[in-house]
Amino acid sequence: MNDIKCLLVKMTGKRPFNRCKFCERQIQECFGIQFFIIAAAIIGLLITTFFISDLPALVLDIMIVITLLIMLLSYLADKETNEIVLNNVILSQMNKELEDKVKQRTTELQGSNDELTKINRTMNDFVGIINHELKTPITAVISGIEVIKSRGIDKLDESQKNLIGVMEKSGWDMLKLTNNLLDLSKIEAGKIVIYSECLVFSKLLEEVVQSLKPEAEKRKVNLNVNIDRSITTIFGDSVRLKQVFFNIIDNAIKYSKENGNVDIKVTDSDKHIILEVKDSGIGISKENMGSIFDKFTRRVAGIKGTGLGLYITRSFVEAHKGNIEVDSEYGKGTTFKITLPKVQVV
Ligand code: ADP
Repeated sequence: MNDIKCLLVKMTGKRPFNRCKFCERQIQECFGIQFFIIAAAIIGLLITTFFISDLPALVLDIMIVITLLIMLLSYLADKETNEIVLNNVILSQMNKELEDKVKQRTTELQGSNDELTKINRTMNDFVGIINHELKTPITAVISGIEVIKSRGIDKLDESQKNLIGVMEKSGWDMLKLTNNLLDLSKIEAGKIVIYSECLVFSKLLEEVVQSLKPEAEKRKVNLNVNIDRSITTIFGDSVRLKQVFFNIIDNAIKYSKENGNVDIKVTDSDKHIILEVKDSGIGISKENMGSIFDKFTRRVAGIKGTGLGLYITRSFVEAHKGNIEVDSEYGKGTTFKITLPKVQVV
């Protein structure tokens, strides 16, 4: 009975649906069985009426053939509908899987985001501690040493003088490290601010060279400076630029051999000033060249450093819209070339 109802529903054209409304079977399976039973019955009837050859019987025959054709077409159409339905089912299943994956990834990303926020907060706390708990006392110690030196270093004996010298050097090293860490945290947080002003380039460089002369003398390294005097001004942040020059020249001295040379050359083009610092030092091997600008990368054992200088230098140069290049031959020497725009186009 259900099968017949189902067939009727189908014949009235109420499709598509996935399962038979009445017998709950797959529509194609349900309809297929019915089709063959009914088709057999109709063909039987057709054969019988064929032998009774009068007009009503002929009309009946034609009607039966038309019905049969409608049923056949309906069956074929249903087959196609079922394929579409099946494809839809597969598609919606795939959609669901995709949705689940997106949900999972979103949850994972949310987790990473929370983790990053936590790290950022820790970083800020860390910077706060460095600033207040470390930098302030170190500065106080260095100032104390300066006072002792200015007031009566002559009253001290040789070992006391040495001790003061060591304390002073350690103080400055610690201050440099804390400053580097503070800069690093600002770079990482994208909070580097460039206070641009019109600067006399040669004066800026001269100040840095002067401050490094004692170190060069101590290490017996010759500092040769060659500045084209016609190069005058640049727009930039004096503190950051001095830090850049200091890091590069300090490295050149630090990684030089005794009696080595550090040549500092400044030239310019229409829109740029180019600083080249060339040393005849230990050089950088080819395999280390790719990583020297990475933070906390140290490639030379036995020479003090933090592995932050070049990372910070590059960040500051880029903050000025400039660029830094390096060329080196292992065992022979290194050249750093810094190109800075005279005026930064923001
Ligand atoms: P640090 O000097 O504190 O180690 P830097 O970031 O300034 O850190 O330098 C990273 C590394 O690059 C150094 O450890 C050193 O191996 C290499 N390097 C930098 N400048 C020179 C140079 N002038 N000559 C040879 N090696 C250098």
